[in-house]
Amino acid sequence: MSIKKRSEDQKENLREILIGLAFVAIVVTTVVLWLNLRKSTEESTKNSFEELAFTQRGMLIDRMKDYEQVLLGASGLFAASDHVSRAEWRKYIDALHLDQTLPGIQGVGFTKMILPEDKKSHEQSIRQEGYPEYKITPDGQREIYSSIIYLEPFSGRNIRAFGYDMYSEPIRRAAMRRAAATGKPAWTSKVTLVQEDDVKNSQPGFLVYVPIYENQKPILTTKEREAALIGYVYSPFRAWDMMGKLFQDTNRLFELQLFAGSPQKENLLYETAPLNSQAIFKIDLPVLIGGTEWTARFWSGPNLNLKERLNDQLIRYSAVVGMECLLFMAFVIDSRYRRREHKAKQELENANREIGLIASLMQQLQGCNEEKQIFTLLRKIMGELFPGTNGGFYMLNTQGTELSCMGVWGSPLSIPGMFKSHSCFAIQECQMRCVSHSSKSDARCDHAASSQKSYICMPLLNRGQGIGSIYLEAASEEDFSESLIKHYTKLLTSVADTISLTVSNLRLKDSLKDLSIRDPLTGLYNRRYMEEGLEREIDRARRIGRSIAVVLLDVDHFKKINDQYGHEAGDIVLKHVADLMKDFRSGSDIVCRFGGEEFVLILPDMSPQNLSDRMNTLKHNIEKMKITYRGEQLPVTTASIGISCFPEDGMDRDALLRSADLAMYRAKQNGRNRIEWSNAGA
Ligand code: GH3
Ligand code: MG
Ligand code: MG
Repeated sequence: MSIKKRSEDQKENLREILIGLAFVAIVVTTVVLWLNLRKSTEESTKNSFEELAFTQRGMLIDRMKDYEQVLLGASGLFAASDHVSRAEWRKYIDALHLDQTLPGIQGVGFTKMILPEDKKSHEQSIRQEGYPEYKITPDGQREIYSSIIYLEPFSGRNIRAFGYDMYSEPIRRAAMRRAAATGKPAWTSKVTLVQEDDVKNSQPGFLVYVPIYENQKPILTTKEREAALIGYVYSPFRAWDMMGKLFQDTNRLFELQLFAGSPQKENLLYETAPLNSQAIFKIDLPVLIGGTEWTARFWSGPNLNLKERLNDQLIRYSAVVGMECLLFMAFVIDSRYRRREHKAKQELENANREIGLIASLMQQLQGCNEEKQIFTLLRKIMGELFPGTNGGFYMLNTQGTELSCMGVWGSPLSIPGMFKSHSCFAIQECQMRCVSHSSKSDARCDHAASSQKSYICMPLLNRGQGIGSIYLEAASEEDFSESLIKHYTKLLTSVADTISLTVSNLRLKDSLKDLSIRDPLTGLYNRRYMEEGLEREIDRARRIGRSIAVVLLDVDHFKKINDQYGHEAGDIVLKHVADLMKDFRSGSDIVCRFGGEEFVLILPDMSPQNLSDRMNTLKHNIEKMKITYRGEQLPVTTASIGISCFPEDGMDRDALLRSADLAMYRAKQNGRNRIEWSNAGA
């Protein structure tokens, strides 16, 4: 990966991180804003609700005070006169038009305190007013009676209360006593009015009392007040009738329960609806009136649309967050797109670079005449083609047993420079071996066993036969990525094919050239090669003033071997002579088979003495050869040798060969198995 690519990637990463952070900040801000708004909405709604509850409670107390006021007004009647007649009472109450001014009041009455000794006379007097049925109820002896004698409107269910002794009932009596003792209005807790005749339609009720004292009697102390008590004006209320009028607005934002006392079921006077435990807000407010404490329980009703308001806000804020998400996604998609585009561009550039390198490699390989040139070229290119790797080229020896390193790229390799062919799976199986650094399942080639690195061994094949391998290993201990392995494998295959082809071509060219210049039987150079070589040597010798010796060697009586032992035996003799001559060769000597049983040696720059010594040794060695053919020892081989020298015996190739031939002929004539010098016979 190039530095440029890495920095581009880092830039894109940084951009994505910044966008991500900005997005998180925006979303967090939006959520915090929403939570704040939600809290303030909840708080303001709660405040509004509580304000409403206080107002409603105030309204309730005001209304109750209004009722007290009515009774206080009525008590004024008694203060003005010692006796208030039924007619006066009726007239007064009628004049108030309570059904319009204070709807919900069941009636306004007067109850008179009657001592047991006055009970009979009292009943008598009321009966005489035209109510023959009148009597104090309930029956029975009590310490004192308080009989309802006036109750307006005196009709309907109110008639049932006529004569009722409210002192006989503890709740009423408690309120009445409190009123008498304090001189102030007193409210009862929950009662069932005697007016309730129908159990099914029965309602809870309550009453309010204002004491009436006898005029002119002192009423400054409790005792005085209790002593001066003559009765009470009072009002009974049917709770639902009264409260229903007060809280009849169906669009109200709250619901209410009114308890005559603490908020317990048995104290429940009235409710606009059963308590909703899911209500968002709830508040219990004390209702202090007439020396008693009631409780008004308010809770938010369905019309208090806090949830809807919150939901509205939530929807609006969700839409904002949604838009922020979309914006973020658009940024991310754009970033990904740019990254992909950048990657594609990089890959294209990379591919172009690789194609360029391989094309240039192929072109340069065409100019290679020797294998070592191939590896010199590759050493330069492989590091560029396979960044992040080290590697080397290993070629198989002619026996196919061992591979030797021909060149490396990158840092020194972690494998040996030479290894046996059987230690490499790639050579054995003729297919690529790729082993990951972290893999436990892939078997490593023996030659790479000491290395911990991921590697690829790519065989070089010539017509299906391994001729070498390219070894490539990761420069670091890191694994190759899957995609990199894929890519490198493809690239390496193409490089390996190119190398294999080039090596094969060079080897083919070499073997063809060898065929054209070598004698197939003996492996020595042929006459044509020798002639060319001789001409080259003469040119050089002429330029630098050196001498050349041309030696013609002819095997003596060779025909006899053929005749006696067969042509095959003759060939064996020729090979033995040739092998001797190969061993004899040194430096830039050229040894060739001239034809038949004749050999030529070109020996540049040699002193006559040295030449003579070497020739004698050669002649001697030929004589010493022991050749067996089919178990039979062949006769001793000898050779006649003729020597000519440049420039003394000829200035060109043909002249020198002719001179040597003449000298050799002379050797034959002089008895064979001997050496003759051309100038010696001249
Ligand atoms: P001299 O001592 O006079 O040289 O006698 P010679 O028999 O060696 O010479 P001659 O020229 O009469 O015979 C050479 C023989 O070498 C003739 C030919 O059949 C034989 N010859 C030539 N080339 C080959 C070859 O490649 N293999 C074999 N086995 N014989 C060959
Ligand atoms: Mg001959
Ligand atoms: Mg011969």
